[in-house]
Order: sequence, then C-alpha cells, then structure tokens
Amino acid sequence: MFFNKNYQDPKLNAGLLARLRNEMESLGRPVRFMEVCGTHTVSIFRSGLRSLLPDSMEHLSGPGCPVCVTHDSEVAAFLSLAEKDVIIATFGDLLRVPAPGGRNLKNAKSEGADVRIVYSPMDAVNIAADNPGRDVVFLAVGFETTAPGVAGAIMSAKKRGLSNFTVLSCHKLVPPALETLLSGNNSIDAFLLPGHVAVITGTAPFEFVPEKWKKPAVIGGFEPAEIVYALIKIVEQIKSGPGLVVNAYGHVVPADGNPSARKIMDTVFEPRDAKWRGLGMIPDSGLGIREEFESADAAKRYGIVFADTKPIPGCRCGDVLSGKMTPAGCPLFGKVCTPRTPTGPCMVSTEGSCAAWYNYSSGE
Ligand code: SF4
Repeated sequence: MFFNKNYQDPKLNAGLLARLRNEMESLGRPVRFMEVCGTHTVSIFRSGLRSLLPDSMEHLSGPGCPVCVTHDSEVAAFLSLAEKDVIIATFGDLLRVPAPGGRNLKNAKSEGADVRIVYSPMDAVNIAADNPGRDVVFLAVGFETTAPGVAGAIMSAKKRGLSNFTVLSCHKLVPPALETLLSGNNSIDAFLLPGHVAVITGTAPFEFVPEKWKKPAVIGGFEPAEIVYALIKIVEQIKSGPGLVVNAYGHVVPADGNPSARKIMDTVFEPRDAKWRGLGMIPDSGLGIREEFESADAAKRYGIVFADTKPIPGCRCGDVLSGKMTPAGCPLFGKVCTPRTPTGPCMVSTEGSCAAWYNYSSGE
C-alpha cells in the first residue's frame, strides 16, 4: 500500500494513525500488544509513537533485546572467562551488563582482562589470526538474526585452521519464548513480531500463535508508519479472528525467510535448552554448537556451566521483559538505576525497555 512512499510523509503517518484510531473505536475494547524486538522498542519510543497510540491500545515490550534476556548465569560465565588468560571479543553492549555482584566486563577490563570490542564475529576471527599464541573467545548473544553470522565465523575459522578461536554460544530463539509467555497465562492480546528475526525464519515458526493460541501475530517493519500499519493489521485480525501470521513487512521479509542463512545456522548450531532472564529455562530455546564444530565451543573447552546465581538485588528486568510490569513500576527506575548507572541489563542496552523508557518517555 504505502511502501513506495516516503515514510516521513506527515500525511501518510496521520492517515495511518487515523485509520488505527477508527479500527480501535469500532473494535470497542482495549488491546494489549507486545513487541518482541529491541528495535521496535526504540522506534516506538524515540518517534513519539507511543504517545500517539489510541488510549485503549497498551504497548508492552517483550523479550526482544538480546542483552536484556541474557541470563545472570551467562553474565557470570562471561566474567569467569575473563579471569582466564584469553582474549574476550564482544559486542560493546555486553561490557556494562552487571552480574549479580555488580561487576561487569568493563570492571574486568580495567583490572587487566583482555576484553576487546568487535563489530562483527569475523572481527574476532581476525583477532585470532593475528594472535596465534592466544586463545580468543567470542561471546555470542542474540537471536536468529545474529546466529547465522556467528555460524559463518565458526566455519571460516575452521577453514583457516584457527584452533585458537572459540565461541561461547548464548544465542536464543524467539518462538519458544513466545510459547512460554503465552502458556504463562499472560494477558497479551497480540504480538508485533520482529522483522529482523522473520527475515531469517520466515513466517512458519510463528504460525503456532494464531493456530494454537488464537492470537494475532503480525510481522512489522521499524519505521513508525510500518509499525502503525502492522498495528492496524493486528486490530483487523482481532476483529476477524486470527487466521495465519500476517506479514506486514513483506517488502523486506520473504514468506520463507532466508533459507541460505538458516542452512549455515543449522550446519553449526543445534537447539538446546537455555535460560532466559525473566522467563527461566525454556526447552530448545537456545543454540548449542554441534559436535562437528566442538573444537570451537568455548563451553566445552573451558568447562563452562551456567550455574544458578542470585538475581541482581532489586532489579525487575525479568518482570519488564515478560510484560508483567513497566519500567516505571520498578522502585529503582530513574533513582538508583539510570543509563549512566545501570543496575540491570534493561537499562544498559540502547534497545532495553528501561533505557528507552528513561530516554524517551515522560515517565508515566
Ligand atoms: Fe532493572 Fe533498572 Fe529496569 Fe529496574 S529500572 S528493572 S533495576 S534495569
């Protein structure tokens, strides 16, 4: 419909918002929708869209921020790795994520650990090539979006004979998390699905949402106009009764996603149980490294176990990520916990709900 137009066009945006309001008015009841992508979180807040939504439409941020869902036990494992004589390669966001005792990788770095920020997993492979006498561990977090790139890096390191490159895989898969949220009797009416993930997976892994749970699931883009369009589709689905997953981001997301990326991912990784912040252990919701590539598995090389740890005192990130409360409901929000002094990961990541709430909302 509007995909060839300028997304910033005020007429386009005003028209879509008016259409959404009309749809909600004719629906005649409130709708609680959850977005499951940190990029959606930021876009909805930064654009001001949140304040323009109909009053009867409630926006929840779900477990779609990679750093935020990384479990305390995984953060503790990062810190224990940093105590070894290895080079830790990581995306910058992870540096400030506190473990339950308050320490983070930045502290470890200042105390002498060799922690280096990279912008892609291939940067870490190149560090391994440049440092043949040192072991390099890449800390892999994120969803289906980032896993193919990490799988490609593992394959590349193997091809180059770099036995000093390993990966600590803390990857997570989005569909099992949605199943857990819905089976927890959560009062979510619909999901705004992550376009970044769907561009890899396609629509099929999300079909259980309308089929089993009879809730609308709509894949949306990230421009405010695309988000509003997806929300209109959500309301239409509530009215008509959910059928199949709706792909409202079809100009980017093919129905079958990216089979080549999935093939690379499936060659290197296999599903395994994983712990999520706020959601606990979810069967087959993580990615472990297959036996054929076990020489690149940091968990095996260093005997890492993701042992239970005490949660960060006072932090309600888990409740925020599962839609049970908003960041403003956390007693530490904006007082003790700010983006400069984060207590929990939801305030660290730029994609975290607490950070977005702090930076862009009026604190309602
Ligand atoms: Fe945790 Fe801070 Fe968010 Fe509270 S405001 S839930 S302490 S990250």
